[in-house]
Amino acid sequence: MNKIIIQTSGLEYYLKFCLFFSDISCKHYRQSTQTQLIAMEYRKQATIQDNNASTASIPVRPLLFLAGLVVATTLFAVVLDTPAQRASAPVPLEIPAQFTSESQLNDIPAISPEPLLVTIKSGDTLSGIFDKVGLSQQELHRVLEQKEALKTLRSIRPGKQLSFMLGDENKLQTLSYAIDLTQTLEVHRNGDSFQVTMVQHPLERRTRFTNGVINSSLFLAAQKAGLSDKTTMEMADIFGWDIDFALDIRSGDQFTVLYEDLYRDGEKIRSGDILAAEFTNRGKTYVAIRYTNPEGHSGYYSPDGMRMRKAFRRTPVEFSRISSRFGKRFHPILNRMRAHKGVDYAAPTGTPIRATSDGKVIHKGRKGGYGKTVILKHGKRYSTLYAHMSRYGKGLRRGQTVKQGQIIGYVGQSGSATGPHLHYEFRVDGVHRNPLTVRLPKALPIEKKYRKNFKEVAEKLLAQIEQRKGTLVAQLSQPKRSSRTGR
Ligand SMILES: [Zn+2]
Repeated sequence: MNKIIIQTSGLEYYLKFCLFFSDISCKHYRQSTQTQLIAMEYRKQATIQDNNASTASIPVRPLLFLAGLVVATTLFAVVLDTPAQRASAPVPLEIPAQFTSESQLNDIPAISPEPLLVTIKSGDTLSGIFDKVGLSQQELHRVLEQKEALKTLRSIRPGKQLSFMLGDENKLQTLSYAIDLTQTLEVHRNGDSFQVTMVQHPLERRTRFTNGVINSSLFLAAQKAGLSDKTTMEMADIFGWDIDFALDIRSGDQFTVLYEDLYRDGEKIRSGDILAAEFTNRGKTYVAIRYTNPEGHSGYYSPDGMRMRKAFRRTPVEFSRISSRFGKRFHPILNRMRAHKGVDYAAPTGTPIRATSDGKVIHKGRKGGYGKTVILKHGKRYSTLYAHMSRYGKGLRRGQTVKQGQIIGYVGQSGSATGPHLHYEFRVDGVHRNPLTVRLPKALPIEKKYRKNFKEVAEKLLAQIEQRKGTLVAQLSQPKRSSRTGR
């Protein structure tokens, strides 16, 4: 007589009772119970074949039958309750340890309802991955017979995941691959071949509003206001043309941001774009509005339609600290007074250095006390120099053109430097100028043909900001008002 089978039938009563009673409640629960029953069938067969290994010593059928009844009665009470309660439905001790939880039942490979997730590593091949999960190359061929599957799976990328659902005899039931946030490729078994479905997950955009006052740092204030680091960086980027975030920020500065959060199937995926923002720096308020023209190009503009993006960024290193300004200073290495022809930004070694404007690399290499240096030429009149780098931007070479904001190197202390910093110089017609105060070329206005459309967009967004600010003010002042009326 086989004890294992008897024990299993105890569990069977338990599950069948669950199934019976769950009929009146939840479809999903019913399905999961059915799955467990099927899993048990499989396990039963496996143990029959392998029953010599059994060491379990729980005695007899009647006891287990009783146990099953006890459980069923408990379940009867639980079944009509919430899913959370159901998940924690008491499991009798009489049931052998290997069957005590749903998750363990799900671990049974042959009809596992849990998908098998494989994270793709660089160098992985589809056939290698199929091998690893125990699927034959024949299965892979059948999958790739589907045109759409072939097209997508040919370009799987490292870091992404393939999800396998396996069935009997290690046959592939379903293979899915999330192409991006909005699309998933699903390959389902259909007899001896497969069929492909592209599942769409439309993204929902929700408009958010927040504001904050800076007490110690922009990042702390932004965090307190609920902004993600990504959105904070974007805000600094938008206003970085007018405000030097390394130098100009003062306690009491304020910001207001109207932005989007992206949701998929009701779940927040990430923060989206800033739609409009205000930044008050030392009493002066800057306003930026996102505008996407009918050709699909987006940019930020002031309300009067001037581009926020100027020909030059103020700072080549984000969120650094100015350690030495332009002008005369005591030179710590030469040990005497000397004109400082640039601005020093102290930042940890490895901090990215960005081109302050579109330009051409006219020098890349060591340059005496400057150490590893890059010089960019911008049009006919302007050039910028970046010194003491630890290394150059990837693939950077002389003669190459670079985009504004592109990483051209990393902070270091090559050449004569007392610590890691960027030495930055700005020349106009070959003459050194103070990069912090030099008059920079003006920004471009929005194209004439889009002006009318831009005005409409801008007015709407500004009205939204004003309205939400108004709501906020009303909320903040409510207690005051009530105390006044009470007087
Ligand atoms: Zn310097």
